[in-house]
Amino acid sequence: MAEKRDYYEVLGVAKNATAEEIKKAYRKKAIQYHPDKNPGDKEAEEKFKEAAEAYEVLSDKDKRARYDQYGFAGVGGASGFGGAGGMSMEDIFSRFGDLFEGMGFDFGGNGFHFSSSGAGARQRVRRGSDLRVKVRLTLEEISTGVDKKIKVKKLVECEHCHGTGSEDGNTTTCPTCKGSGRILKTQRGLLGLVQMQEVCPTCGGDGRIINNKCKECQGEGVKRGEEVITIHIPAGVADGMQLTVQGKGNAAIRGGVPGDLLVLIEEEQHKELIRDDQDLIYNLLLSVPTAVLGGQVEIPTLQGKVRVPIPAGTQPGKVLRLRGKGLPMIDQWGKQYGQGDLLVNIGVYIPEKLSKDEKKLFEDLQESNNMKPGAADKKNFFERLFK
Ligand SMILES: [Zn+2]
Ligand SMILES: [Zn+2]
Repeated sequence: MAEKRDYYEVLGVAKNATAEEIKKAYRKKAIQYHPDKNPGDKEAEEKFKEAAEAYEVLSDKDKRARYDQYGFAGVGGASGFGGAGGMSMEDIFSRFGDLFEGMGFDFGGNGFHFSSSGAGARQRVRRGSDLRVKVRLTLEEISTGVDKKIKVKKLVECEHCHGTGSEDGNTTTCPTCKGSGRILKTQRGLLGLVQMQEVCPTCGGDGRIINNKCKECQGEGVKRGEEVITIHIPAGVADGMQLTVQGKGNAAIRGGVPGDLLVLIEEEQHKELIRDDQDLIYNLLLSVPTAVLGGQVEIPTLQGKVRVPIPAGTQPGKVLRLRGKGLPMIDQWGKQYGQGDLLVNIGVYIPEKLSKDEKKLFEDLQESNNMKPGAADKKNFFERLFK
């Protein structure tokens, strides 16, 4: 038996690598040696398993600590028994498969999804891979919620064979595995012979083989196609949120369960309003006369413009709160429990250029004691003094 390589060496990371670095390194190796990329290559398969075993240990804090201290003996021994060494390809897919989602690599597409049925019985169900789409939304759409229709390119069920992959609808029991979809493989290890289950190479785990493959889909039961999908987006979502539309991902090979459609929310920046969680912010500049004399201003909201009275003597830096003019607050199930506010930050616009007349007006005002900062306090002081 070849000597086992150090787990850090297998993944090509330093002994003090972070969890994220380990994950990245594993992902790289797994993609490099993925069986879909290296069909029939035994060495690649061994490398793929070796990397999974290393990752299984190094991604687990406790196991990693034991391995650092005691080596292979700390994590199940050099034989790999009890450790990760006995992991079959299926185990690797089902345990680590989701690490590869969104990598542009169809890891899950031909993989398997196990669902338990009854005591210990594992029934295999093929599952299509998940699809990811981005949906851009305006703040107006986010404030009300919206149904978006999008066209998605995806694997769809082949109509010609109704997803069976068979031209005539007939299949026969796989002679290699006698219909179980699995074969038992006996391997010699340090502690004796071990039996391991593997996916049947003849039928790919189906248990049946198609003699007369569908001409439209070459026996896959799926074809490239597209579907228009209506996605219901609840009010109050935010940039970066992900919604899952179950069963709208890629169709599975030969009649399995379709994957999910994962919808990533992207928020378009509003021309005038700034989002702050469920509140909105609007920066309002008043003219000097309006700040001094008061008046009416128009404020944009997501429901249209509203007129707001400005009291005389409004100071810059003051914040007006328009209650309920923000965005709906939703909990993790998309249920609304409140509504944010629109905060109006008030500033005052100071002109840089003045006409002659305007300049004169300001010069007159400049002389006025009432214009000087703190005038109101001073007045109070004298009033108190001479009362
Ligand atoms: Zn077909
Ligand atoms: Zn078979």
